[in-house]
Amino acid sequence: MPKQQSTTSGKHKARKRFGQNFLTDQKIIDQIVATIAPKRDDNLLEIGPGQGAMTFPLLDRVDELNVIEIDRDLIEILNSHEKPNLVIHQGDALNFDLDLFNPPIRVVGNLPYNISSPILFHLLEHRDKVIDMTFMLQKEVVERMSADHGSKIYGRLSVMMQAFFDVELIFVVPPESFDPAPKVDSAIVYLTPLKSCKVTNIELFEKIVKASFAHRRKTLRNCLKLLLTQEQTSIDLSQRAEMLDIDNFITLAQDYEKQYSN
Ligand code: SAM
Repeated sequence: MPKQQSTTSGKHKARKRFGQNFLTDQKIIDQIVATIAPKRDDNLLEIGPGQGAMTFPLLDRVDELNVIEIDRDLIEILNSHEKPNLVIHQGDALNFDLDLFNPPIRVVGNLPYNISSPILFHLLEHRDKVIDMTFMLQKEVVERMSADHGSKIYGRLSVMMQAFFDVELIFVVPPESFDPAPKVDSAIVYLTPLKSCKVTNIELFEKIVKASFAHRRKTLRNCLKLLLTQEQTSIDLSQRAEMLDIDNFITLAQDYEKQYSN
């Protein structure tokens, strides 16, 4: 049995490498649970339950709750509560097989900040199994996810998220709501997969978006010179990537796909 470590909050010493900032503010926890508004028969999946700050209030409201946690010491703590409707999976959410869960799934979590973007990209690939996702992330990341074209913070994350999801910043959470307190503000974001997603080939779309934002100050002609010429697309390549809206990127990717498949 792993030894429990001494702690700031009584039981477990927070591990930086797992992005552990535990929610302690009951008002915020209640607000998050109200945002999720779980129904008894929801297939709820929590990423990174930690010591259960959100897990236990959620458990009271659903018939069954699946959680994925990487830290075995925390799993020990969760197990000690002996909750029959809590199904604990030890593992890495970054490569966890979502096919193990009954779709449609509602995904929730106060995500480890150091790997929040890779987790979002992993879930993006499984969005057809998902009803919605409610996450706590760094506020700055949520702002980038929901930024409009033309803004300085509009980039790869904004385009990749908004091409597939409706992205809504729900409320901001201050550092004092956690133990240990992070250095920055956090925010709750609510994501719902778009009903009619116009991206036909996710890999090619990602390739175009990534290349377009690789050098923010350069024009698209420059950024995409190995992929697409002006003659091959109706999008004006003398612009910078930040000027293009989501539909423009979809057109760019489709024009690239035409070349690719020829
Ligand atoms: N939900 C708890 C709370 O709100 O107090 C903990 C949130 S803490 C920010 C992030 C949690 O994710 C930790 O419990 C951490 O151990 C877990 N975690 C970190 N990396 C993970 C990974 N790759 N897969 C699954 N869980 C992970």
